[in-house]
Amino acid sequence: MRRHQIVEHSCFGSFADSGSMYKGEFNAAFEERCWSDKARTCVKFRADLVKPIERFVEMCELDPKVTTAREMDELNPIFECRTCSSVEKGRLTMTWARAIPHPCAQRQKSIKTKTFVLLDEHESSQVRFGMALEENRAIRKACRIMCPNCKYRVSGHDKYLQHMREEHGVLEVPDLLDLDYHYTPSDDTTTPLYRFFPSAR
Ligand SMILES: [Zn+2]
Ligand SMILES: [Zn+2]
Repeated sequence: MRRHQIVEHSCFGSFADSGSMYKGEFNAAFEERCWSDKARTCVKFRADLVKPIERFVEMCELDPKVTTAREMDELNPIFECRTCSSVEKGRLTMTWARAIPHPCAQRQKSIKTKTFVLLDEHESSQVRFGMALEENRAIRKACRIMCPNCKYRVSGHDKYLQHMREEHGVLEVPDLLDLDYHYTPSDDTTTPLYRFFPSAR
């Protein structure tokens, strides 16, 4: 299987050790490098995950042969792993993208075993709301933010406020937009797992 090279701009970080076929002139000319550089391969095909993907699509009563990832993203089903759920810890819920690499997904040989269950729309909307809050919190805590004044990059919102205060004397920092947060291709931006309470079903 061949895939297109995907390039990232050099402002994502150092690209001196690129193992890319475009090493040299391409990097020099465009200051870009490829995701598939040997040093940091970010795009790969996982044959072992094909079956788990098919099962999650089937649980949504869709045909895995024709359903696209975008359709699944738009549907945004929420699954619960029953193996990992407990009264004390809550119900372990996840998006379909997060469910695929979840270790229990490999062990689920058939959807009849009910290792995973698809939540109904009422519960799913509660989980999505909770996930969004947690995701937002995690981004503010850990994501890189570039200072608009000096282009220095800091990790996390608190450090950003500190940088603006100490380096530029700015006390009133305007709210950040999504664009101000900088991701690299190796960042995992999948919606995190979510512990859902109440645990009784
Ligand atoms: Zn599990
Ligand atoms: Zn700055």
